[in-house]
Amino acid sequence: MSAGVAGNSAMGNDAAEKVIRIAGSITVDELAQALGLAVTTLIGELFKNGIVATINQRLDFETAQIMIDELGIANVRLERKNTAAKLADEGRRELSKDAVLRPPVVAVMGHVDHGKTTLLDNLLHKKTVETEAGGITQHISAYQLEHDGRKITFLDTPGHEAFAAIRQHGAMLTDIVVIVVAADDGVKPQTVEAIKFAQGANAKMIVAINKIDREGADVERTKAGLAEHGLMPEEWGGDIMMIPVSAKTGEGLEKLLDSILLVADVEELKADVKIPAEGLVIESHMETGKGSVVNLLVTGGELKVGEFVAAGGAYGKIRTMVDFQGKPKGKAGPSTPVTVTGFKDLPNFGDRFLEYDDEKSARRAALVYAQNAQNEAMSANVTSTDLLRMMNVEDTAKVFNVIVKGDVLGSVTSVVDSLKMIDTKGEVTLNVVATGVGDVTENDIYMAAGENTVVYGFNVSVPTNIAKLASRDGVEVRNFRVIYELLDDARDSMEKLLGEEVVETEMGEMEVMGVFRVTKTELIAGGKVTSGKVVPKVNARIVRKKEVLGEAEVESVQKERIEAKELIENEIGGLAMKTEKKIQLEVGDKLQFFVRERRQRKLGE
Ligand code: GDP
Repeated sequence: MSAGVAGNSAMGNDAAEKVIRIAGSITVDELAQALGLAVTTLIGELFKNGIVATINQRLDFETAQIMIDELGIANVRLERKNTAAKLADEGRRELSKDAVLRPPVVAVMGHVDHGKTTLLDNLLHKKTVETEAGGITQHISAYQLEHDGRKITFLDTPGHEAFAAIRQHGAMLTDIVVIVVAADDGVKPQTVEAIKFAQGANAKMIVAINKIDREGADVERTKAGLAEHGLMPEEWGGDIMMIPVSAKTGEGLEKLLDSILLVADVEELKADVKIPAEGLVIESHMETGKGSVVNLLVTGGELKVGEFVAAGGAYGKIRTMVDFQGKPKGKAGPSTPVTVTGFKDLPNFGDRFLEYDDEKSARRAALVYAQNAQNEAMSANVTSTDLLRMMNVEDTAKVFNVIVKGDVLGSVTSVVDSLKMIDTKGEVTLNVVATGVGDVTENDIYMAAGENTVVYGFNVSVPTNIAKLASRDGVEVRNFRVIYELLDDARDSMEKLLGEEVVETEMGEMEVMGVFRVTKTELIAGGKVTSGKVVPKVNARIVRKKEVLGEAEVESVQKERIEAKELIENEIGGLAMKTEKKIQLEVGDKLQFFVRERRQRKLGE
């Protein structure tokens, strides 16, 4: 099922809103039903817009939205529902009364060089016992520490990419985000990004004000900087714990862990254990000799060796299971990260896994998932692009997406304001996706990828690794120091979106006085130029009593039986023309000469 209806219909009550959730696409029939319309009404509306649709035709999200707008239906809101979100919805199951407390899942984020890695390393070495297996040798995506006899699960978020992906998958597995800010550097662009991510993921925040051992560290000023971004420290009457720490000396780290547990207690993080095991794939790769090696975070139930599982389109039987230190584990409960082998294929990062009774059920689940994913990817046979093309409103539908980064807030504001003032006569919509102060970052590139988006930098720099990333992802980063150059560039880009147009320039007219030869491809005639002129290579419209019979191209012009460069008003002469079909030219017909050119459309013309 790709659509569902929630909420009440608007029985004369303005406030009541109907929500229609669409996963990928929706059939004409389903949409009509969800809207409470006769299906013929919807088909009629589609037809009006040039689309001949049948009841079972699938419309994509945008098309459905346009139809609702066109039909003037208020009180209906469309929501996107992707498979992962659907799964995550299911994942947010109601807890039973038997639910038990589980360890919090924590992500550490912050600006580059503010000490995330050092902090995690320090915690890891302080709080885990090196095992005979050799401790941590490879990159791990999650691990667990013990503090006060209680466990805390840390997710390593190597860049914002991973976190964004987690978010995108709707899998809000992070309970707490520790934001690391260096006390000698203060709030930086990526600090702000981290805050936004945490807010978007609905996670609780704790701030670790790091590097307090450094000269120049200023905890109070750092707090003030955070407060400017809406994070009010507890000691100032707010609700965010801010812990001064030194990832280097270890000072404050115990307190940081205390705080994490405190937040976990307040949040009462619980999970059911007496249910089939479930959780999320947080990393997967192939290893020679082992096959698929998959890192899972169990979120409910208990996963055991020998059990059958499916995650996304992959399934298998858990062959081996180890903890993050490589120690074999027979079973793993909620919030436990484990590495397993036994999946027959590689599941994807962010896929939800579930335990099944037997291999057959697991395989079926994987197959159904793969089938659905494929349906969603391919099934919409009416897309908004088709619709817009048919509706002939492509010009107004052109959108130019920009991300603006500037050196100071003032410059960002003036760039954005000036961009918005470019007059496009409504033909191109300028959409400011994001703005920010500071250098172009990884996150800007990720945000720009996949869409028709340009990242504009004004008086900032683009680090080499970011430039590389951008070129890898096909993202355009354009950096300027002069605002007018930036604006000219934006104007040019918007003009390019308009594409080319065909322009016809009238040149003159002739009245046909004699017809000498008519074939499928050739027309030779004579006449008098009544206005303007005619030269070789121009086009001619053949008109009889205002009706256009067809077109021809003038090959050559003759005056007094000699090839000529042109015939001007009142001159009599002959023309040899090329046609695409046979046109039975007659005396008295008119030839209208014109030049047809393709040229780049200009804004506001
Ligand atoms: P990340 O980019 O956020 O992971 O930052 P790193 O952990 O790589 O730290 C960047 C630099 O800051 C490294 O040279 C660390 O040694 C240093 N550093 C990190 N934490 C502290 C700290 O608490 N005190 C001092 N003095 N240096 C630190």
